Amino acid sequence: VTRLVDLEPVDVLEAQVTVGAGVTLEKLQAHARAAGLDFGVDLAARSAATVGGLVATNAGGIRVLRYGSMRHQVTGLSAVLADGTVVSRLTGLAKDNTGYDLTQLLAGSEGTLGIVTRVRLRLVPQLPGRAVALIGLAGTEDALAVLARARRLPSLAAAEVCYAEGVALVRSYASLGAPFAQSFPVYLLLECAAGTDPTDELLELLGECDELGDATVASDVAGRTRLWAYREAHTEAISAAGVPVKLDVSVPLGALPGLVAELPPTVEKVAPGARTILFGHLNEGNLHVNVLDTGTAGTEVTDAVLNLVAAHRGSISSEHGVGRAKARWLELSRSPAEIATMRRIKAALDPNGLLNPGVLLAAGE
Ligand SMILES: Cc1cc2nc3c(=O)[nH]c(=O)nc-3n(C[C@H](O)[C@H](O)[C@H](O)COP(=O)(O)OP(=O)(O)OC[C@H]3O[C@@H](n4cnc5c(N)ncnc54)[C@H](O)[C@@H]3O)c2cc1C
Repeated sequence: VTRLVDLEPVDVLEAQVTVGAGVTLEKLQAHARAAGLDFGVDLAARSAATVGGLVATNAGGIRVLRYGSMRHQVTGLSAVLADGTVVSRLTGLAKDNTGYDLTQLLAGSEGTLGIVTRVRLRLVPQLPGRAVALIGLAGTEDALAVLARARRLPSLAAAEVCYAEGVALVRSYASLGAPFAQSFPVYLLLECAAGTDPTDELLELLGECDELGDATVASDVAGRTRLWAYREAHTEAISAAGVPVKLDVSVPLGALPGLVAELPPTVEKVAPGARTILFGHLNEGNLHVNVLDTGTAGTEVTDAVLNLVAAHRGSISSEHGVGRAKARWLELSRSPAEIATMRRIKAALDPNGLLNPGVLLAAGE
């Protein structure tokens, strides 16, 4: 699949493009931009993540708020099924109600139903005017209150949250200065993107928010990159500090402050002294829970965190997929009837269990 790296010319009329499954997100973005368009999914792993992997995991990232996750960008694909059948639907028709949507069945199937070889993707307008605000706040409730107001801005493109512990780790890893004169428990990053400079509407919004502890805004590329670094360098900074237990969960927004408050004591109970670092995509209630210094209690930490998430009616895998590591916890998020139906689909398309055995659906049950 890594050799499937061809990029067809951008279809400007349809604002779509067909690419090989091995093309990296970064290459796809550059290809779309060269044609005056852009791609709606972006994430920190852009230089390594392939289109096939992004489709297979239905990846999310920092633009879901505006454009949806990877499956929303996919208008069609080609895939090889376990018996060698090639299913291909690359017309990119905006309206096509001719039966089961096999493209969307394969999106998010984590390589368990077929190998994706080519993908037809929707492109979005290029938005050269950008402004980023980094906001210091007292709590997650305040971040949600600011987000609720920010959603009124048509230019809102990203809303990312991180916390004091993570920002301290990022600062020492990336040798970054403090964003503000004082430290805050919560940091909210908002990005606006539009055809023209959205700085004024972002500033106007901030002026309406009583919750702000402090805020800084950047419109130039260097300033925006500097503010994004506090959020985007989390994954690298955490990995440099040790081997974390990495979980990726989402809960309804109303449950998020409770989850954030309950996570550290829940982890502490099963892994005393462990460090819980949280960051994520606020609009989707999506938290990346990274736990350092768990010693031998990695499984206990995973179990405790995922059960807590389920108690908040959340998902045990918001955007990274279930894989093998979390397959045994799938029943916390999906009903027995749903899991049984997934198994019937798997058995119909891959009766011998050749494709990614044990991924998503635990083996031997
Ligand atoms: C720094 C960093 C930040 C990240 N941030 C985000 C984020 O914000 N949001 C998010 O959603 N994810 C994020 N990720 C995870 C990222 O989405 C995935 O790593 C990536 O999308 C997977 O692409 P890949 O090519 O690396 O796939 P792999 O990791 O190689 O594979 C992932 C799964 O897809 C299957 N697969 C791969 N290619 C195909 C194919 N052609 N056909 C069928 N199945 C296939 C594999 O078998 C496997 O089960 C991040 C990762 C890193 C390292």
